[in-house]
Amino acid sequence: MLARAHQTDADLTQGARSPAQPVVTGVAAEHYRLLVIEDEVDIRRAVGAALRDQYPSIIEASTGMAGVDAVDSSHPDLIILDLGLPDIDGLIVCERIRAMTAAPIIVLTARHAEADTVALLNAGADDYITKPFSTQELAARVSAQLRRSRTPRSQHAVISADGLVIDLHRRQASRDNNVIRLTPIEWELLSVLVSDPGRVFTHQQLFAAVWKRSFGDARLYLRVHVTNLRRKIERNPADPRLVITEPGVGYRFILAP
Ligand code: CA
Repeated sequence: MLARAHQTDADLTQGARSPAQPVVTGVAAEHYRLLVIEDEVDIRRAVGAALRDQYPSIIEASTGMAGVDAVDSSHPDLIILDLGLPDIDGLIVCERIRAMTAAPIIVLTARHAEADTVALLNAGADDYITKPFSTQELAARVSAQLRRSRTPRSQHAVISADGLVIDLHRRQASRDNNVIRLTPIEWELLSVLVSDPGRVFTHQQLFAAVWKRSFGDARLYLRVHVTNLRRKIERNPADPRLVITEPGVGYRFILAP
């Protein structure tokens, strides 16, 4: 189970957030096949130790080329991709894999590699986790991504989160039956974020989706409008629980804070 402590936790737990412990539903976890692409054997071992109890089928690849081949031959349900590989740049590996499969890609990144992380998310990665990471956090991210990949998008016309009700068909947000007056930009921003709860949207992705153009200071625009949006939808805008900042990277919407 996710909550079980592993010996490796002591080595890896640093600066970890305490994520909720979501459980994959619908498909039994043991039926999923995971691929780990990482050259460092210690990290591969740690990832295996974190996930093997729940996901017995884990394939390992120590180079980018071997990883791409494994995607082709084994059709994994989820890929954990390290950014630093000996043969091919992680960004190129990510793009190649994304061209081959819709399976979620979680990228392992080093601290302070925000620019790389952003490029990877823009190249089709679904989420990232910063090394050193806790085993619980990795397991939670994996199950969240597997759940996402099994949930049809736009399935729910009405979304509830932390007392906020978002009606996508009527283009309306409300709290305690009081309609919240959002500007068209704020509504667009919110609807993009809630279209895929839990996913990190980069500044560039949000900017392109909301403003429909690629020029301009995406971060500045977003900071202003996210602040306004939070003031209207969050219980405590100073301590946002719904629209979460991923420093240096972008924002994500959390369905169950
Ligand atoms: Ca590496």
